Parts: sequence; structure tokens; C-alpha cells
Amino acid sequence: MNPIKEKPHAGGRGASGITGLSAHRDFSSLRALYGKDRIPANWRDRLPDPASYYSQHAAKLTRPNGMGWAQGVCPFHDDHNASLSAQLIDPRGGWRCFAGCGSGDLVGFHMRLTGKTFKDAVVDLMESRA
Ligand SMILES: [Zn+2]
Repeated sequence: MNPIKEKPHAGGRGASGITGLSAHRDFSSLRALYGKDRIPANWRDRLPDPASYYSQHAAKLTRPNGMGWAQGVCPFHDDHNASLSAQLIDPRGGWRCFAGCGSGDLVGFHMRLTGKTFKDAVVDLMESRA
């Protein structure tokens, strides 16, 4: 039995490799991005189930087909033909409007529906599930 040899990286430790200025810049840009209430790293796992989300926000939603796609009324235009197709099985909850409103994922749908920013939409969605 041979013990596993593990050598930590010893070389390349420059004394003045990191300048204080650039480190500070990165930090402040991160703060600007995430602000005081940052999104938790596992936010994708905390989004609501697409099936329950879309059943609340798209009228006349059908049962999903074998691929998980259901049809419903698109809330983004004056829809009379259930032009919205929404993915109810994949947790990302993709959607597409065949009348030309576009497509995206569940967060994008919620952003468009509420007019919120990405961060606010994610927080909103996490809270709606709790
Ligand atoms: Zn539409």
C-alpha cells in the first residue's frame, strides 16, 4: 500500500501579485450587482414548480404532453388561441408564445409579467414557493 502523495502548490507565490486597487474594484462591482440582499447560491432549487406556477399565471392551461409541454393563454398579448407553450416538467420552466411574444425560462416569464428586475423576480419566486 502506497500512501497517496499530495503536494500542495508551493511555487508561484508572488509577494506583490495582487494589487489592492483591482481587488477593491472587483469587490465594489460585486456589491453593486448583488446589493444588500443577495440571491442565495441555490436559488434555482428554490424556484416554484413550473406546473403550479404556470397554472396560476396562464389561463386555460392544458395537461402537459409526453414531453412536458402544456398550452395556455399567453398573458403578454390579447390571446384567444392559447398561444403559450410552457414546459412543466423541466425545472427551468421554459416558455414560448407562438404569436410572437418571445420565449424564455420561468424567471424571464416572471420578470416580464411583473416588470421586476432579475434579482427581484427571483426573490419574488422564492417567496411564492415558501
Ligand atoms: Zn403572446
